[in-house]
Amino acid sequence: MYAKVIIEYGAKAVDKEFTYIVPSNLTDKISLGSRVLVPFNNRLIEGFVTDILNKADTTYELKEIKEVCDEKPILNEEMLYIGEEIRKKILCSKISIYQAMLPKALKADVKTNIGIKKNRYLTLNISKEAANSFLEKCKYQGQIDIVENLIINDKILANNLTSSISTLIKNGIVKETYEVVNRYNVTPSGKYKKVSLSSSQQEVVDSVYLDNHEVYLLYGVTGSGKTEVYMELIDRVLKLGKTAIMLVPEISLTPQIVDRFATRFGKDIAILHSGLSDYEKYDEYRKIMDGKVKIVVGARSAIFAPLKNLGIIVIDEEHTSTYKQENNPRYHARDIAILRGKYNNIPVLLGSATPSLESFARAKKGVYQMLTLTNRVGHATLPNVLVIDMKNEVKKGHFILSRDLENKINEKLSKHEQIILLLNRRGYSSMLTCRDCGYVLKCPNCDITLTYHKTSNTNRCHYCNYSVKNVNVCPECGSKNIKEYGLGTERLEETLNKKFNARVVRMDIDTTSKKGMHEKIINDFGNHEYDILLGTQMIAKGLDFPLVTLVGVINADSSLNIPDFRSAENTFQLLSQVSGRAGRSDLPGEVIIQTYNPDHYSINYSKNHDYLKFYEEEMKIRKVLNYPPYYYITIVNVTSKDYNEGFSEANKIGNYLKKYLSKDTQVLGPSMANVFKINNIYHYECIIKYKYDDKLIPVLTKLDEIYKTNNKVDISIDVDPIRM
Ligand code: ADP
Ligand code: ZN
Ligand code: ZN
Repeated sequence: MYAKVIIEYGAKAVDKEFTYIVPSNLTDKISLGSRVLVPFNNRLIEGFVTDILNKADTTYELKEIKEVCDEKPILNEEMLYIGEEIRKKILCSKISIYQAMLPKALKADVKTNIGIKKNRYLTLNISKEAANSFLEKCKYQGQIDIVENLIINDKILANNLTSSISTLIKNGIVKETYEVVNRYNVTPSGKYKKVSLSSSQQEVVDSVYLDNHEVYLLYGVTGSGKTEVYMELIDRVLKLGKTAIMLVPEISLTPQIVDRFATRFGKDIAILHSGLSDYEKYDEYRKIMDGKVKIVVGARSAIFAPLKNLGIIVIDEEHTSTYKQENNPRYHARDIAILRGKYNNIPVLLGSATPSLESFARAKKGVYQMLTLTNRVGHATLPNVLVIDMKNEVKKGHFILSRDLENKINEKLSKHEQIILLLNRRGYSSMLTCRDCGYVLKCPNCDITLTYHKTSNTNRCHYCNYSVKNVNVCPECGSKNIKEYGLGTERLEETLNKKFNARVVRMDIDTTSKKGMHEKIINDFGNHEYDILLGTQMIAKGLDFPLVTLVGVINADSSLNIPDFRSAENTFQLLSQVSGRAGRSDLPGEVIIQTYNPDHYSINYSKNHDYLKFYEEEMKIRKVLNYPPYYYITIVNVTSKDYNEGFSEANKIGNYLKKYLSKDTQVLGPSMANVFKINNIYHYECIIKYKYDDKLIPVLTKLDEIYKTNNKVDISIDVDPIRM
């Protein structure tokens, strides 16, 4: 017997399956998807079995599989199939997609050593009468204590082995047993109560057919009760004896959703997200593999959860960019969901208040089924939005908070209501400049300005983490006239603390790097231990606090000024999402948006909660400029340590693409990427725009092949990029 094994070796060069002999002692243990240890280039490495063969080409001498690593196969047939299919679409290596499917503990990698945790328990190995007579004779206090304890308690935890325990075990008085421990546990707060659905929610639930594959787009305004719809559908799926995947953008930001699921479905759920340690992920993942749970709630990679008998996949906030992985393999969770939906013949439900243009266009064309929820639940209404032109405010000396926002904050504080403020920039100020010579503090490794962080008194690069102590004199001209420019969350926090008598909490990467901090901030704010929550976009999504009646956006322009064709869409989504945090229950909500572009359509339509108008306007622009969803985009990134070599290879690649792709396909560039230098690596890119090009995949595959052995530059191919 022979087996084909796929291995990860040298990242770039190998994406091939190699044939090995299965020695007779392993034939019973091996199957499709097994993780195995094989010799390769005088080393032992791990790989996955992708095929089992009776015959093999033995022109070359074949080697033997050394070992089967696990009792059961790690990849099931569906996963192997998904790997094959997605590779054809995104041109990643097959091994990279298999690795992405798995928690660290189960990846093909001999270096990881993440095991199961077990507790040792002691029980009596003799009758209680016998134990009592043992006690009469025994002289050792350590042993007496344990046996007495066991007479009362039947079973005790004893992870540390003492000499008394060893002796008792050796003499057959007590015996030890081991139980596997789950290192991750959600404790439901009990705050969630199951509701009875409104007639419009019920209608949506009834429109989803559970016994065949279809993609549904649930377009429902913020607070319209989408989450309740998801839970009801999942409930129905469970009643059919099936299982469900519920994807959320980034779970550590949405502990409230987890809490709702944990309260309603109890032990039936597993949670997978980046906030868990590798050990906790392994424990959660094993629950799924062993069929112990019926629902997986998780972020992007949870889309690969190996649930058997899958009945529905739900993707909440489907427009969110975190569903696309931005390094290899660059897959989009939505594409994987649809592949799995077809494979299992089950519905895929995408939900959003601000669907991506791609999904909405597909739903309008009937490729997806459109479902809508147009109103908020109960008496709640969408908040009133006021747009403030900061040009006028700045003239009067109000740089950070406009007079309207300041007044409103005071008003809400006096009523003991809560406030959320969004500022999409962390740190204290955006940069340091010299007022005399114009010098700007930049990162030596990246072409990006450094951000001043007051807490640590350093200037830091948000791309490569370079950090340097703060300076008081200009390194260029020696002037002391060096000033901060721009506004970050640290400085906003400082301003709020000075101006208001309020309890303020800040949530950004810097305050949440410690494990569990997201959850803590959100819980504490939910318990009204704070009046104002300020933060970066991580506060914009999924939060549901009934006491929040005011949302302020400090600078709506930060996402608008990014040079990306999606910047208007991203701005509209961000503003709508964060506005959606206000007035979600009986108290009416208000939103104040500060901007230097008060006439921009993305700001105006979001002010009027008018997704449809925004969609129409933005689609016109996309059409004229040949952007998605009218055209597809693929980017070929060319990176090099050497400026000139990068440039010349990028040019060759541009010419190659122009020569071999179809006539109707546009190839733009090469040009310098938005951030041209990161960590001393130069980034060039060629942008390919096309409606349909059957040459694309073969040409790119060839290009990828050619550059695998090139050591001057690296290329990476991003199909349907989420960012330009
Ligand atoms: P969305 O996911 O669309 O933003 P949610 O599902 O979070 O909306 O619902 C918003 C709020 O309304 C939540 O507090 C939720 O518990 C409540 N809610 C949803 N549906 C109902 C209902 N049918 N009856 C009463 N309250 C509801
Ligand atoms: Zn200077
Ligand atoms: Zn840097």
